[in-house]
Amino acid sequence: MSNEDRIAVVTGGSRGIGRAIALRLAREGFSVYFTYVGNEAAAAETLAGIEAAGGKGRAFRLDVSDLDAVAEFFKNEIKDAGALEALVNNAGITKDGLILRMKDEDWNRVLDVDLRGAFACLREAAKIMTRRRCGRIINISSVVGQMGNAGQINYVSAKAGLIGMTKAAAKELASRSVTVNAIAPGFIETEMTDALTDDLRAAYLEHIPLKRFGSAEEVASAVAFLVSEEAGYITGQVLAVNGGLYC
Ligand code: NAD
Repeated sequence: MSNEDRIAVVTGGSRGIGRAIALRLAREGFSVYFTYVGNEAAAAETLAGIEAAGGKGRAFRLDVSDLDAVAEFFKNEIKDAGALEALVNNAGITKDGLILRMKDEDWNRVLDVDLRGAFACLREAAKIMTRRRCGRIINISSVVGQMGNAGQINYVSAKAGLIGMTKAAAKELASRSVTVNAIAPGFIETEMTDALTDDLRAAYLEHIPLKRFGSAEEVASAVAFLVSEEAGYITGQVLAVNGGLYC
């Protein structure tokens, strides 16, 4: 048995779904290296949660849309730190707008963070994982990437792109026993969905067969399964965690 740390990298782990994933993977025995963009206090809270539960973690300020910074992060902090077993591409933003009013900068920023940033991390993780001939990559997509949504053409395109990226990477990396899967959450209670008006909430709930929003912990459970040994024969798949919204 090796005493190397089993490392899981989680992007955007300072709050919401990313924080729940970071805490859960720490409980599963991973040394969790999570990234955040600006909120140091929130990152410190995630770290404290990991340590309070007896786990190991480290927080890194990293904008995933900065390709050089991503490459440096994997080279300097991950490559020789232990065994990189899992990457969870969770970082994501929205900048909603109707098609005719969508600003170029809002299109570009969402694609840069949600899709190109995920690719940059996947590429760096793949360099390390293919050498070790094992690894798990999970991309956090969204139900709207599967079914579309008015007013979110940039976000929907990025999240649908993540599903394509998952399938392409799964095929390309399978010969090295690296699996790549996506999770498509439906509506999950986080700061992202706190912004919804009561009317919009009620309208969405009407279409969710389980009649409630999901929790970040329920998304984290799906991640824990897909990174586990039990999921070794699953690759190129999209696991929906959405209360039956998209069936
Ligand atoms: P959130 O806004 O609460 O958290 C987003 C995280 O991403 C934060 O930790 C933030 O620091 C990080 N982040 C933002 N920009 C970044 C950048 N440029 N570089 C690195 N990190 C960055 O969002 P959430 O609701 O927890 O969502 C997490 C993921 O789940 C996102 O990819 C989101 O699209 C997806 N998702 C969320 C829902 C939902 O209902 N909340 C549904 C489907 C999919």
